[in-house]
Amino acid sequence: MVIDCLKTFSVMKNEILEGLTTVNSIFKFDFSNKASYADISKVTHFRRVHKIYVTGEDVPDPLENFSQLVGDYGVSSTILDNIKNLGYLNPTPIQMQAIPLMMHNRQILACAPTGSGKTAAFLIPLIHNLKGPEKVGIRAVILAPTRELVKQTYSFCVKLSEETGLRPLIIENVNDVKDRPKFLRKHDILISTPNRLIYLLKNDPPSIKLNKVQWLVVDECDKLFETGKEEKSFRDQLAFIYNACDSSFLKRAMFSATFRHEVEEWCKLNLDSLVCVSIGTKNTAVESVKQELLFTGWEAGKLLAIKNFLQEGFTPPCLIFVQSKERAKELYSEIAFLYSKVYVIHSDLTQEQRDKVMQNFIDGKIWILICTELMGRGMDFQDVQVVINYDFPTTAIEYIHRIGRTGRAGKTGRAITYFTTDDVENLKNIAQVIKNAGCEVPEYIMSLKTKKKKNEFQRPIKRQKISTVPVYDLQKQSKKRKLIQNSIKKKLKKKVDA
Ligand code: ADP
Ligand code: MG
Repeated sequence: MVIDCLKTFSVMKNEILEGLTTVNSIFKFDFSNKASYADISKVTHFRRVHKIYVTGEDVPDPLENFSQLVGDYGVSSTILDNIKNLGYLNPTPIQMQAIPLMMHNRQILACAPTGSGKTAAFLIPLIHNLKGPEKVGIRAVILAPTRELVKQTYSFCVKLSEETGLRPLIIENVNDVKDRPKFLRKHDILISTPNRLIYLLKNDPPSIKLNKVQWLVVDECDKLFETGKEEKSFRDQLAFIYNACDSSFLKRAMFSATFRHEVEEWCKLNLDSLVCVSIGTKNTAVESVKQELLFTGWEAGKLLAIKNFLQEGFTPPCLIFVQSKERAKELYSEIAFLYSKVYVIHSDLTQEQRDKVMQNFIDGKIWILICTELMGRGMDFQDVQVVINYDFPTTAIEYIHRIGRTGRAGKTGRAITYFTTDDVENLKNIAQVIKNAGCEVPEYIMSLKTKKKKNEFQRPIKRQKISTVPVYDLQKQSKKRKLIQNSIKKKLKKKVDA
């Protein structure tokens, strides 16, 4: 094995693997009985072909095919069969490099495009490393930002761990887990949002122990590093969970489609002998998606544009992104009567309702799904044909994730982004992403000046209500509502005073 042979020359090896050193510097070392230059250049070439970039020491060779897992790592035929049953013939680039790294118990920060198979890249080595059930409690934790993504990862995990005896767990209801240590002990892998897990950890005494956790995987890690208001801060929640996993054997793996410098800095500081893996150019949209920008003039123009789009005919399924749940409801009420197969999903629905909508979308009963950022990250719907950004995304990162719901696993897709004069400030950033992916962007947009943002998280701009009712009438209705509310308040006050 190349890795074993080169251990003594670790620093230099990485340079070689990255193709950074010259032939001269290689010959300064004695390579007798060690990997030949041909082997190294083969690995370098292989990585280059698959756009795999690695930094770190002693990086194992990338995997060329799944059957290598058996010979090189002793992966059971059960796991290999589970991989085959999912229809995976060959590993994707992130799987090629992340799987061997995690097999070697290395801590990693991995960045690979949307829909490139990151889930299996961490699940396969995790399932192999845990071997079989031990009934000592949770030994691996996978965190994801939304309940929908947690469920999706859980279902992948169930499929990949079939017949291994390992038991994955998601917390549907905190009361199912509370005060049930025996139940928890029977499970090996916990997949959760930070919120649910924190709730259990903060009970007195804690309802769950994480002292046996060997692997902490943070999916969509750049999202989970976001700061927010007190208890809603993903970053604080992550820190709490991180501290609760206090085993000395703990290893962490961070995965995301988008890269934040801050996350990399944190990982470099806190994770021993970290390896950073990235596939392709960082923070780019997938090239398999045909991306278009459409100027609709003003807010009301967007409603006309979407109705036109739906009337002209398109290949479903289609996802329509808006910036808030209020706007999702508004848009739904405007187009629901036109199409029976349109529905809406947002955080005001109960979990049960959300699950039902998701299932109906997956089953093809819903063709057009209006959604918010809730669906923006990680969701892997089969064959979404079109993504429409009804509301212009606030950041390029948000844009990359939203349009990454289509064009997954090498398939093609289409993304249409509406913009109005109100969106000009952010336009250039997103247009740049579109251009970098090889799609056409009008020159006048590219010549706009980019405004430097104060911080990378921007609030969505205030927009006019989505409605066919003229603005004048809407204002009149709102004034009337306020007058009624005020008169009710006055009457109540009078009653209290009397
Ligand atoms: P990501 O997390 O990178 O956005 P996912 O893990 O959700 O991507 O995978 C996207 C899709 O690709 C899923 O439908 C998954 O089943 C499929 N997939 C993953 N790995 C492979 C593979 N090696 N071969 C074929 N399809 C794969
Ligand atoms: Mg994912």
